[in-house]
Amino acid sequence: MKIAQIIKVLDELAPSSYQESYDNAGLIIGNAALDCTGVICSLDATEEVILEAKNKGCNLVVAHHPIIFNGLRKITGKNYVERAVIAAIKNDIALYAIHTNLDNLLQGVNGKMADRLGLNNRKILLHKQNTLMKLYTFVPEKDAEKVREAIFKAGGGHIGNYSECSFNIKGAGTFKPGAGTHPHTGEVGKREETNEEKIEVIFPFYLKDKLINAMTKAHPYEEVAYDLIALGNYFLEVGSGLIGELKEEMNEIDFLQLLKTKFNLKVIRHTPLTGRKVKKVALCGGAGSFLIKNALSAGADFYITSDVKYHEFFDAEDKLVIADIGHFESEQFTIDLLCDVLNLNFPTFAVLKSEVKTNPVNYFI
Ligand SMILES: [Zn+2]
Repeated sequence: MKIAQIIKVLDELAPSSYQESYDNAGLIIGNAALDCTGVICSLDATEEVILEAKNKGCNLVVAHHPIIFNGLRKITGKNYVERAVIAAIKNDIALYAIHTNLDNLLQGVNGKMADRLGLNNRKILLHKQNTLMKLYTFVPEKDAEKVREAIFKAGGGHIGNYSECSFNIKGAGTFKPGAGTHPHTGEVGKREETNEEKIEVIFPFYLKDKLINAMTKAHPYEEVAYDLIALGNYFLEVGSGLIGELKEEMNEIDFLQLLKTKFNLKVIRHTPLTGRKVKKVALCGGAGSFLIKNALSAGADFYITSDVKYHEFFDAEDKLVIADIGHFESEQFTIDLLCDVLNLNFPTFAVLKSEVKTNPVNYFI
């Protein structure tokens, strides 16, 4: 088992192209071509977690937060980031981060939080822009099925729970092969007219190269005719935050209690209760103040997130309750999500949850 094989599964779960521009997700330290001896999943790749990996015989740490985030100019061990980098390199331990690319999925960090609360009818709170493209290609009728098949296999034509979606229309194509060409049909210097099919498929932008490669390989023409169009449509499963509904509406105190129990919380910082019932719940794991306005406009009764500043709490305006449950606490189940995905794909391989409590925040109660 190579480290690259594990990374491939993680990248299929949360393509690194979905990360935000400021992020540093992906393989941060290590050589993907090396054999993997075991994986440890954690929220933070601190020095302690790296030493835990070493002691348990694992040479790959998969963490939610990238330990190198703002760039490093010196590596002398003077702070926790530099010490983690030194420990990883010294002990031949690879570090992989799966961060905002996992935040930006309906089934990612937020999906796991929604599972804990049993939310239904889940939707993204703020869709990510420019995630979808469309491909048109023109294929001789008899080869159309082969090309369609290749495009589907490469991930084209996938919409929600529907796969192999395409639109096909028949028409006539013309071309005149020039000197030095080797046309599939027709003769050099003579205009050829052939019965063709135009195939249309939608696909996520990050599959562009893969799709074009697969299409050109299956296509009989020397010069493959195709158009790529950027779409303004939203990819319904990709973006920040999540909103869903509780099965039964409940009063605010009961909901706070449920939240406390399901997330093992010592304390919840929250805005004044509104006195209304709770049905629609918005949430965002990690620092989610930037979505307060989206939670408000989506009509949420509660917005669960972390790292909310004093003045941001005022934005609730008695229209919803903002509940700050703590950064670590909001993302804690991400570790289970990573382990479950890896265990499912590599059932006989050692995938461990870190036992180090990396949360730097303590509560004196
Ligand atoms: Zn976070």
